[in-house]
Amino acid sequence: MLNWLQTLLGRRSSHPDTLPEALWLNTLLNYPFLARRPVAEHLRLRKLATQFLKRKQFSGAHGLTVTDEMAVAIAAQACLPVLHLGLRWYDDFKGIVVHPGAMLARREVTDGIGVVHRYSEVLLGEAMERGPVTLSWQDVAAAGASAHEGYNVVIHEFIHKIDMRSGVPDGCPPLPSRAAHAAWHAVMQPAYDAFCEQVVMAQRFSGQPPWLDAYGATSPAEFFAVSCEAYFVNRPRFTQDFAALTALFDQFFKTNEAIVQ
Ligand SMILES: [Zn+2]
Repeated sequence: MLNWLQTLLGRRSSHPDTLPEALWLNTLLNYPFLARRPVAEHLRLRKLATQFLKRKQFSGAHGLTVTDEMAVAIAAQACLPVLHLGLRWYDDFKGIVVHPGAMLARREVTDGIGVVHRYSEVLLGEAMERGPVTLSWQDVAAAGASAHEGYNVVIHEFIHKIDMRSGVPDGCPPLPSRAAHAAWHAVMQPAYDAFCEQVVMAQRFSGQPPWLDAYGATSPAEFFAVSCEAYFVNRPRFTQDFAALTALFDQFFKTNEAIVQ
C-alpha cells in the first residue's frame, strides 16, 4: 500500500516535493503520451502529481491493493488537464476509488408516466459532484496503448470534475464572463451537432464512423470529456477532425488560470 507515499506523508523527507526518479520514469515509460510532452512540462507535471498524491486519498475496491505505481499513474494523468490551471480545480473532493476492472452500476429512472425502469450500466469510471472519482484500473493501465485511439479514462473523469465546478456537467467549464461562455458555445455547439450527425449516419445508414469515440454523442458533457481525452493523448489526430476545438482547449487549459467557482 503506497509505500513511498506513506513515507512521504508520515515522515520528513529530504525531497518532500519530488516523486522518486524510478517511479516517475516508470510512469513515463508506461504512458508515452506523457513522455512526448515538452521537457519543461515534465518538471511541472511531476511536481503537481506529487502535490496531488499528498492531497488525495486512494482506496482499492474488491480487495485491490493500490500500489505506488498505480497511484502515480493516476496522479500524472489526472494532473495533465490542470497543469496550468492548478490543483485548486480538484479541491472539492479527496477520494479516488480504484476498481480492478469495469464496474456494474445499478440505475433507476422514472419515466414521464411514472414507470420506474431499473437497469445495469457498465462503467469504466465515474465522477460524482463534490464526491470521489472511481476508476477501472484495467482501463487506466491500458491508457498507454489506447492513446492511439484517443481514449483515456482518467482524463475523461477529471474533465467531468472540471465541468462540475459550475454545477451539473453541461460541457462547459467555469468561465470568467458571459462573453467567454458565448464564445465557448459558439465553438462547441456546431462541433457537437456535426459529430452527433456523423455518429447517427454511421450507425443507421452505414456512413463513415467518426475517429472520436461515439460515446461523445451521448450529451454535451460527454462530448467535452471525450474530446479532451483525445486532445490530451493524441493531439495531432484529434486536430485533424477538430481544429477549432484544439484552439479552444489551448486557450482554456493553457491560459485560463484559476477561474474556480
Ligand atoms: Zn463521462
